[in-house]
This record gives sequence, C-alpha cells and structure tokens, in this order.
Amino acid sequence: MDYKKEAKSLKTECIAIRRDIHRHPELGFQEFQTAGIIREYLKSIPLDEVKECSGTGTIGILHGSKPGPTVMIRADIDALPILEQSGEPFSSETPGVMHACGHDGHTAMLLCEAKILAAHRGEIPGTIAFVFQPNEEDAGAQIMIDDGAMEMAGHPEVAFGLHLKHNYPFGTIAMCPGPMMASSYYFKVTIHGKGGHGGYPHLCINPIVAAAHVIENLESFRAFENSVFEPTVISVGMIHAGEKNIVIPNDIELEGSIRCLHRNHEHIHRRFCEVVEQTCSLYRCTCDIELKCGNSLVYNDPALEKLAEEAAVETVGGKNLLTENIAVMGGDDMAEFMNDRPGIYFFVGMGDPSKGTDCPNHNDHFRLNEDSLAIGMEMTMRLVLKYMEQQAAQK
Ligand SMILES: [Zn+2]
Ligand SMILES: [Zn+2]
Repeated sequence: MDYKKEAKSLKTECIAIRRDIHRHPELGFQEFQTAGIIREYLKSIPLDEVKECSGTGTIGILHGSKPGPTVMIRADIDALPILEQSGEPFSSETPGVMHACGHDGHTAMLLCEAKILAAHRGEIPGTIAFVFQPNEEDAGAQIMIDDGAMEMAGHPEVAFGLHLKHNYPFGTIAMCPGPMMASSYYFKVTIHGKGGHGGYPHLCINPIVAAAHVIENLESFRAFENSVFEPTVISVGMIHAGEKNIVIPNDIELEGSIRCLHRNHEHIHRRFCEVVEQTCSLYRCTCDIELKCGNSLVYNDPALEKLAEEAAVETVGGKNLLTENIAVMGGDDMAEFMNDRPGIYFFVGMGDPSKGTDCPNHNDHFRLNEDSLAIGMEMTMRLVLKYMEQQAAQK
C-alpha cells in the first residue's frame, strides 16, 4: 500500500468533511450532528461494525483479512465555547461555539483513514478500532472507558492518537519517548475558620490568613522538595471569601490545578494534602480537600516510539522529525486510553505564518492548516500498519 498516495487521494474529501464539521461545531457531549456525520460515513464505507458509546461517542471496527493484534486509533470530536473570529469562509454557523482546537481536523482524518484502510483490508493483519471521543476538553475519555468503550473496541493492545499543533512548522512531526503531556488534577480546598468583627481579629480565626500561608507553602514545597527533572506545577486559579470589608468570613475556597510531567504524581498529591492540612492547623483552621483527575500523564511507550519515529521519517523525512523539547505541561485525555495499554501520541506541525496557522489553539483567530491533514493520515496509517505487521510476524 502506497500510504502517501492513498492519503493524498483523499485529501480533498478530508478537507470537505473538516469544513462541514467546522461550520457546525458542538460542545462536549452535545456533538449530535457531528456523531451523525461520523456514523453515516463509517456505515457507508462500510466498516464491519459501528457502535455508539456515551451518547455522542462512536467506535468503528474494521477486521483485516489476516490474523493479528487489535489496535485503536482515537480522534476527539468536540468544540469550544469561543466566538469565531478566524475570517474563514466556512466559519462556525453557531455563534459562541468554535472548533478552535483542531478536533474537526482530527475527526476528518480518522474518517478518511478508516475508508482507506477498509479498502485495503486484505493487507491488514488484525483488527482496528476507530474511536471517536466526545468532550476531550473536559475529560470525556474516562467516561467512554467507564461506559465500556474498551470492551466495545475489542480490548485493543495499543492506542494511537495525535494533535495538530500550531507551534511546530508545517511539514514536521513532533514526539518524544516517555512523558509527553502532563497529568492534570484539579483541587478545591475549603478552609474553615471562625468569622466575626474585623476590629477584633483575636476573637476570630481568619481563614484568609491561613489561605495566604497555604499558597506560599505550596510553592515552597513545589520548588524545594521536588527534583527539577520531575517537572511539577501547582497553580491556584480561584479564591473566594468574604462579603464585606469589616467582616472576617468563616470560610475561604481555593481552586487550582496540579500538573506533573512524570509518573510520581501520587507522591505529589499526598504531600500537597499534608502541606495544606498542616498549614491550616498551624493557623487554627480546619480544611476539606477535593482532588479530581482532569487527565492522566500522556506517556509514549519507548519501544513503540522507535516504530513511530520510523513511520515519521518515512512520512516527512528525518530532518522534519522533531524529538527534543517536545514535552508540555498541557494535557490530553488521550492519556486515559494509554493508562492500561502502551501507546503513542504525536504532534503534526501546521504552523505557517503566511496562512495564519501559527495562531495558538483555544484562540478565536485559530486556523487549521488543511495541508497537514494528509500528513497526519499518512503518519497514522504507517504507524498502525507497522505495529500490526510486527506483531503478526512475531505470532
Ligand atoms: Zn483544546
Ligand atoms: Zn485539542
């Protein structure tokens, strides 16, 4: 199979699908029209099975003609609550909702990959599950998994995913072995003191004072207690307390996130709780701590990374494969699919200042470089088939 030729042959179709989805963006778990487009397309190919999961999620199954492993490829399908200002002729027709993260491109690529691979099923050893995931922007992957997505997908041995990226030049592919995108946990700390008259602080317990020390101690803990080779970020993003300047409130709430670009996050979380609890206790306060997972660590399996780098070199050439300083403190819930199985996640560069496709995602001027779609398709198909052929040969 000539991957480059096949990807190019569907480029126009891929762009048309992407623009259709771009015109009709939908927020997380409301992707009804998008799911309709996906399901209709997969059935028309036709794939062997098209299953629905978690409302707007879809899993398409393609059985190759030869025996081999089961693999999954994931695309996210949701848009963001942003009023589009890109100026594209196919801009969002839903005011206040925009595909500003490129998930329209991810979805279109995976649909076209399914069509190409289905036409070559005679050459495919094993089964491919095409997983279309809702609500990436707010942890939709775990909900799909909890709803049985991996059973529906035939318990894939490996998981592959990608993201189109503005900050890498068009024509490049970027990835690294090991930690690639940080885990992200969200906290809400409620500190309880004793409210009263602002003129008599000694008769009160001011939770605002405790909160100020909590914030300082968290930063000291982060900076001095952890190796710089295990990057960790603790950010407080919200504080709420008080109603009046002459009244000491009973409580204060702090909310924020803890991000770890390493596998030692449980230790960080434990120490976070200790630092908060003991600081509150020093200032005679009590506290409640809620910590919930936003997304896990995206970790590229080192053995699979070798195969992926081979695929990338064949797709874009060695000098366009970027592997240094790739890891980021941002996250992607693709990680949840990679928690129980090895996987690979890579970036497809689309930055081109002359086209405005170097604008960051989640921005109202975000533009997708449609020439990157054929590269993403080619790379994914090469990687998937390389893995399947390797595994089939070993069995
Ligand atoms: Zn996003
Ligand atoms: Zn995204």
